[in-house]
Amino acid sequence: MSLYAELHRHLGGSVVPRVLWRYFQRNRPDLADRFSDYAEFEQFYTQPKSTLEEYLELHTLVESVQTKEALPYFIYRLIRGAYIFENLAYLELRYTPYYRTPERLTQTERIDAMAEIIEVVGRASQQSEYPVVTRQILCMHSRLPYEVNRATVELAAQYPDQVCGIDVAGGDAAYQERLDEFVQLYAQARSQNIKTTGHLYETENGCYPELLPYLMRIGHGIQIPLKHPELLKQVAARGQCLEICPTTYFQTGTLDEISQLKQVFNRCFDAGVDVAICTDNAGLHNVRLPFEYENLLTQDVIGFDGLRACQAAAFRHAFAWPHAEQPVSMISSLLKERERLVVSGG
Ligand SMILES: [Zn+2]
Repeated sequence: MSLYAELHRHLGGSVVPRVLWRYFQRNRPDLADRFSDYAEFEQFYTQPKSTLEEYLELHTLVESVQTKEALPYFIYRLIRGAYIFENLAYLELRYTPYYRTPERLTQTERIDAMAEIIEVVGRASQQSEYPVVTRQILCMHSRLPYEVNRATVELAAQYPDQVCGIDVAGGDAAYQERLDEFVQLYAQARSQNIKTTGHLYETENGCYPELLPYLMRIGHGIQIPLKHPELLKQVAARGQCLEICPTTYFQTGTLDEISQLKQVFNRCFDAGVDVAICTDNAGLHNVRLPFEYENLLTQDVIGFDGLRACQAAAFRHAFAWPHAEQPVSMISSLLKERERLVVSGG
């Protein structure tokens, strides 16, 4: 039996269309009424977009309803689904806390309200019924001012039991003019022993070598093997893992052909760069992690050996997996021990 680790999943994009639709019907009829029926909503929500920017717009729709009061509703269903349908033993859930605070507040008040959001997400993630080890990654955002991003990093330091790392998200073209800020914030995070990932080298507009040295994992990073393979050696030497989310690149118009993904995996494997396969926005794509795995196999992007290497890499590069061993070896030893006791009559 395999249990999996998911390292790159957005809280906003993790809501599957059916759950979001039911929530709208029960609590936000004004949003449900924009669509004639569920089928029209699902089509709107899950259809591929032509750019990353257009794709990210959908996040704002979900973020607007993921308030402090509503977060437990969504997180309960997310973890239940992850346990039952995806065999997840470990989940890093990422989001921008600022966007879950009330819009009517001032910026300072919203910054002050971020801590409570982290606590709400933390409490909602601990479910004895569906015991997935869950931690938060806090996302800085390219559209948010420096003060908010700095507060996000500071909160990551204040909640080490719940927050396992930081990220930067929100459209990679926008990092350009504020690169110094992000370099400084990442440097601050590393100096406080906060673990780091970041959406980088996802699109051709998001290639910033200045940020690379600060990242322990690279969110996407597919442009490295595709367009900057000369960097692979450094990436391997730093022990950085690429978080590759196969469905995303076709939803955002970043890639056209599945064969491009084959090149991504092959070049990483050849260079000794670890890859974790992730979903990014499992709800928005309506594709769960085991289906990402299966698609890569059936589309002949990777084989079973490659897949198992990526599944193992996900646990090795997890920021907060609490055990020395991976679940597969823990379960195997347990079963063998039980069998030995039965055979010996113990
Ligand atoms: Zn992402």
